[in-house]
Amino acid sequence: MAINVTPIPGLDPAINDLRRRTAHLINTEVLPNEEEMWRSRRGAELTEDERETSRRRSIELREQIKAKVFQAGLWAPHLPKEYGGAGLDFLSLAYMYEILAYAVGASSLFGIAAPNSGNASILVKYGTEEQKRKWLLPLIAGEMESGFSMTEPDHAGSDPRSIETEAVRDGDHWVINGHKWFTSNGIDANFFIVMCRANDATGEMGTPGRMTQIIVPTDTAGVNIIRGIGVFGHATSDHCEIRYENVRVPIENTLGLVGQGHQAAQDRLGAGRVYHCMNSIGQMWRAFDLMVERSLVREVHGGLLKDKQFIQGFIAESYMDLQSARLMTINAAEKVANDDPDARTAISAIKVFVPAAFHRVVDRAIQVWGGAGVSNDLPLAQMYLTARVLRLADGPDEVHKILMAKNIIHRYEEGTGWNFGT
Ligand SMILES: Cc1cc2nc3c(=O)[nH]c(=O)nc-3n(C[C@H](O)[C@H](O)[C@H](O)COP(=O)(O)OP(=O)(O)OC[C@H]3O[C@@H](n4cnc5c(N)ncnc54)[C@H](O)[C@@H]3O)c2cc1C
Repeated sequence: MAINVTPIPGLDPAINDLRRRTAHLINTEVLPNEEEMWRSRRGAELTEDERETSRRRSIELREQIKAKVFQAGLWAPHLPKEYGGAGLDFLSLAYMYEILAYAVGASSLFGIAAPNSGNASILVKYGTEEQKRKWLLPLIAGEMESGFSMTEPDHAGSDPRSIETEAVRDGDHWVINGHKWFTSNGIDANFFIVMCRANDATGEMGTPGRMTQIIVPTDTAGVNIIRGIGVFGHATSDHCEIRYENVRVPIENTLGLVGQGHQAAQDRLGAGRVYHCMNSIGQMWRAFDLMVERSLVREVHGGLLKDKQFIQGFIAESYMDLQSARLMTINAAEKVANDDPDARTAISAIKVFVPAAFHRVVDRAIQVWGGAGVSNDLPLAQMYLTARVLRLADGPDEVHKILMAKNIIHRYEEGTGWNFGT
């Protein structure tokens, strides 16, 4: 199994070169070690000793690969060079993420695993020098983990302005009270960026729309992790339910300005959605390769799967899904890179279209593989769950459709309509 990358005609030569270098690392370092790196996740299939040996081997392999990524100058590609990143521009990153996502878990080997990567970007943009020293640098170096704690069980996550978690100023501290859930990476995190309604300098409580992000170390008294929420039938996960009960943190932990948290969260999620989509596309390529390659060798009812028209239909439909998702995403990435006023509409469009296309492609790949398709021997079952979650996380489909429709209708109300070809 290897990713097949050839130069794209007309693309900036520097981006083609980046694609080639990334694919080289994926093909020579990551894919050959993929099975061994993630073997320890096979829980019940391994004895206690086997799991421990394989866990240690996995850490060793991952450290070796990370060292190679560092040497190649591709670690934390989304962050500025002054903070130890590769300082790549937006479009280069989009093309790179497509390639990275082909290999299972490669994001953590390149320092771009969520939610750390998004949190690092907010810290770069809004953090004070002290916050950068204390939280950003260890996060980039892989010495710390983090979570982003916004969604609440009792208020609509799809309407984040409705959150109720309060931060009340008490001298030179905030006192935080609230109930959150689905804070990913909650088990391992050293700190959370918590979205709160905070009182401003005059002591007045922020209105629902005026939110504030506050850095909360996870070992602060009153940060009570209630559970890792079980999802898709698994007993537990690292998506945590948390109660913040009289949590006291210094005012210096305010990230950005009081009342400006919504904008910071939009910065984090907005353009990041393009990366998520390129990640999905990389995984779609993997599912597509697995599907077609299986069809070449599996015989059923006297013939190879590739010769059955149902399967040919799966292959053709998946090709169309993949190509349309990819072109839409590249178009959105170009709009973001060019500060195009239609970028938000394009981002919402891919946020709806790509996870659904991803879901369809993986679903067909599973079907072609039969029972093996849902087993842990292949990455397809995990991809299937990921694709489903992506229709909810970072804003459910319906919210993005509403946003798109509003932007489009507005143009017609203004009398200009939508420009052809944009
Ligand atoms: C695996 C996973 C990981 C996550 N990680 C994080 C994380 O790290 N940090 C974090 O803060 N959150 C996280 N989330 C939460 C996620 O962002 C929310 O689940 C999502 O925003 C939806 O919010 P909600 O669950 O409260 O659903 P609700 O807001 O209750 O929405 C329910 C449904 O209502 C419908 N709907 C919403 N608005 C409209 C509308 N205007 N018109 C019509 N229908 C509408 C949609 O179908 C929507 O799915 C994660 C979620 C999952 C599943």
